[in-house]
Amino acid sequence: MIELANVSKRYNGQVTALRGASLTIGAGELAAIVGPSGSGKSTLLHLIGTLDRPSGGTVRIAGHDVAALTDRELSALRARAIGFVFQQFHLAAGVPVLDNVADGLLYAGVPLGARRRRAELALRRVGLGHRLDHRPHQLSGGERQRVAIARAVVGNPAVVLADEPTGNLDSASGAAVLALLRELNAGGTTVLVITHDRDLAAALPRQIELLDGRVVRDSALEVSTW
Ligand code: ADP
Repeated sequence: MIELANVSKRYNGQVTALRGASLTIGAGELAAIVGPSGSGKSTLLHLIGTLDRPSGGTVRIAGHDVAALTDRELSALRARAIGFVFQQFHLAAGVPVLDNVADGLLYAGVPLGARRRRAELALRRVGLGHRLDHRPHQLSGGERQRVAIARAVVGNPAVVLADEPTGNLDSASGAAVLALLRELNAGGTTVLVITHDRDLAAALPRQIELLDGRVVRDSALEVSTW
């Protein structure tokens, strides 16, 4: 589903954020990308999310070589195949929750009525069917993140990329958000969680560790010794 081969990324031709990173993530996996601040996690997320292109190496998402696609084709791939969840939720202020989620389908060419119906279903799935008319500021942090997850999955993407999804939440809300991501994964969605939190990463089936722009550990490549 996601394949990076010897990927490097330099910003402004100077700062090297990734140095020859390689990893393969299969359909239906739930994995953590873990590493300290500055190790290249966000850069990796941008490349996997097709929001940016590598300086060197190959990025393949759902069978497409990102370098071979035009910007327009990349946007289409992103809209169809990838859902994003961010630490800061990124919901539109003052806009009802239902429309925040329905807007997740704006670029998929779905008519408004159908967008709203699908948004309602997605909100029910995350346990917020009773909050459709609420504005983001009327919700708790955990509820806002559940809205963001509903928006990420309303288009039924193959991959969900979650960047520090529990970073702004208390532990109970964080656990609920993580449970939701697990449930999503159990339904077949490939889920990648980017985090600096080693405990969170250790709770997931696979950990890929970054340091100074390199993959320094991938639990999937370790041979079991027992
Ligand atoms: P992390 O998400 O693990 O904190 P980043 O991918 O954000 O790591 O950053 C990796 C390195 O690349 C850091 O040294 C950072 O300062 C640098 N960097 C990230 N984004 C940019 C940018 N847009 N321009 C210049 N340097 C950047």
